[in-house]
Amino acid sequence: MTLFEIRGLTKVYGQRSVLDIPELDFERGEIYALLGPNGSGKTTLLEILSLLLPPTTGTIRYLGRRIDFSANNLTALRREIVMVPQNPVLFTASVVKNVEFGLKIRNIPRDERDNIIEANLDLVGMGRFRDAEAHKLSGGETQRVAIARALACSPNVIFFDEPTSNVDVENQLAIEQIMTEINAQKAISVIFTTHNLTQASKIAHRVVSLYEGQKAASVFENIFSGEIIDAENGEKFCLVQEKVKLWVNTGREGTVRLAIDSSRIRLLVDEEVAPNRNAFKGKLLQLTDENGHIRAIADIGIPLSVILPKSILKDKPLYIGEEVILHCPPDAIQIF
Ligand code: ADP
Repeated sequence: MTLFEIRGLTKVYGQRSVLDIPELDFERGEIYALLGPNGSGKTTLLEILSLLLPPTTGTIRYLGRRIDFSANNLTALRREIVMVPQNPVLFTASVVKNVEFGLKIRNIPRDERDNIIEANLDLVGMGRFRDAEAHKLSGGETQRVAIARALACSPNVIFFDEPTSNVDVENQLAIEQIMTEINAQKAISVIFTTHNLTQASKIAHRVVSLYEGQKAASVFENIFSGEIIDAENGEKFCLVQEKVKLWVNTGREGTVRLAIDSSRIRLLVDEEVAPNRNAFKGKLLQLTDENGHIRAIADIGIPLSVILPKSILKDKPLYIGEEVILHCPPDAIQIF
């Protein structure tokens, strides 16, 4: 059975539409990444699906039942659908008391509570911290306790908002592993937001790309192989298909694959001065209207797919065959 069926979903703030999704389904038992640049609507969609924010219009069915955001009965659903926020807040109490809180509210007997707490703290690798003061933990440890607290409710689906954006590398890997494990071992559906393509491709079974509040075609299209080369000044570039020199921030060496996020490549308008690096002249091969945006394909030595806001046409009319300049910021390039 489908986990979530979204139809005609919008979220409008004042006059501004920040989310507009005509149709989107999430299947049960999968790990989904909501991928997109800042401001693309990832958190808004996550908050609506996790019942924290009502949509402006549209319907959402959860396991076939229509969610009524105006009703008081969301409390029962909130046991099945839980969210681990980006910066979770733990009470000023021990780790164990933090995880126990939700179980006490549900009147789970003491013995059962202890078992649930122990199993979930072990799952997130925080068993030995059970008596530690929760508010003194590091960002990554706090995140892990928040995951144990969410898991203690035995949810069907768990949401993570940018789960690793505020944690060190070691905790990042641990949290990614935990997300994979809770899905594999407990068959819990996982939906998380990220702007990190590498993370999305590493963990998620499926990726939903958002751009300016709308579903975009996959960003996995600009994938190339290349060779990392050390420049004299200690910087690095990637020579893509022996033609295109892309300056990159990476610790990797040798042959790599890289993806360039089509929603973050910029097309320079006439009066703009091209940056020294990663700006390429190319010929426009294709222009298509896509969900209210423009998808352009340009040949810069390699074919590059770019998503552009329609508003760009006010500054620069675009014609097939014309020469354009595209800029790929280093943070739009992900190496894997
Ligand atoms: P993301 O998570 O992809 O960075 P968000 O969902 O946080 O994006 O935001 C999408 C857009 O909605 C942004 O332009 C943001 O400024 C706007 N937005 C989010 N929350 C509010 C709010 N409470 N009031 C007005 N605008 C908002």
